[in-house]
Amino acid sequence: MSDHAVLHVKGRILVGPEEVRDDLWIVDGRISYDRPAGARDVRTVVGWALPGLVDAHCHVGLGPHGPVPEDVAEKQALTDREAGTLLIRDAGSPSDTRWTDDREDLPKIIRAGRHIARTRRYIRGYAHEIEPDHLVAYVAQEARRGDGWVKLVGDWIDRELGDLAALWPREALDAAIAEAHRLGARVTAHCFSADSLPDLVGAGIDCVEHATGLTEDLIPLFVEHGVAIVPTLVNIATFPQLAAGGDDKFPRWSAHMRRLHERRYDTVRSAYDAGIPVYVGTDAGGTLPHGLVAAEVAELVTAGIPPVEALAATTWKARTWLGRPGLEEGAPADLVVYASDPRADVRVLADPQRVVLNGRVTA
Ligand SMILES: [Zn+2]
Repeated sequence: MSDHAVLHVKGRILVGPEEVRDDLWIVDGRISYDRPAGARDVRTVVGWALPGLVDAHCHVGLGPHGPVPEDVAEKQALTDREAGTLLIRDAGSPSDTRWTDDREDLPKIIRAGRHIARTRRYIRGYAHEIEPDHLVAYVAQEARRGDGWVKLVGDWIDRELGDLAALWPREALDAAIAEAHRLGARVTAHCFSADSLPDLVGAGIDCVEHATGLTEDLIPLFVEHGVAIVPTLVNIATFPQLAAGGDDKFPRWSAHMRRLHERRYDTVRSAYDAGIPVYVGTDAGGTLPHGLVAAEVAELVTAGIPPVEALAATTWKARTWLGRPGLEEGAPADLVVYASDPRADVRVLADPQRVVLNGRVTA
């Protein structure tokens, strides 16, 4: 598109869940609600427009065995883009993906540095594996390396115990989360079980990933501290398969994973009903494929979240939470156009008609 070409999006522009406009113009990659005077080269796209979708738990540059080469990371990001994901909160990556910031054709990434776990207490090749004495130093390092987030592994299987168990003592978490906040970074943690949650929340954590262990008695604590959750239901769907692999050596762990899976929809619905902010995340990149954002939104609806709220969790609310604009005047033109109203049926997200990133139609 030349500098003077104008893209006209016509139809229903969903600026907010209730705020709808009929026309949007894109001039020099930015959104305008005023028809540009004297525009000659105008291309029109018709449909229902949403802000570029947010995947708040996605890993670019990560594969099943750890870091992947740049060309693989690029394919991951392009797959997300084709699915309409234009803003990613990268929930931990062992690769330096900073080079994507210079690529106008790739989704924008908000990084959390590299996962921080305890020695031999996470998937091999993913995390900095350290002991609690070093937690503050590593959190400070990753806070400086990331884009305002730090990712901890909060719990994982303890092979001696044969079950999920918390990784960090409370004192280490108090000091580390305070240090992240001092450096202007928010902190999130991978948590499957319930027992890691009280200490993380008490220490001031901002968000919990998966949160399958969020039982009724812990929900008020999350509400009181304003802790958000990113359930990643498309990942939790793999728990029975993981559990089957552990039956011989770790039967207690397997049974625990099956229980967490069985009540996953009740967990998410109860959290939502209590007022805990819930955001869309797919956990793509380790073992899951990229591009599952529509499937995750559909899963949140299956869990009982109203469709418009499930949409907000990947659009308006998610962008506000991450400090990025939506379809505001002057914002970068990152949007997705659909054939019908996604508020009426979120399944339309699986079939974007047009994806527009930085004002360019990419698909
Ligand atoms: Zn993850």
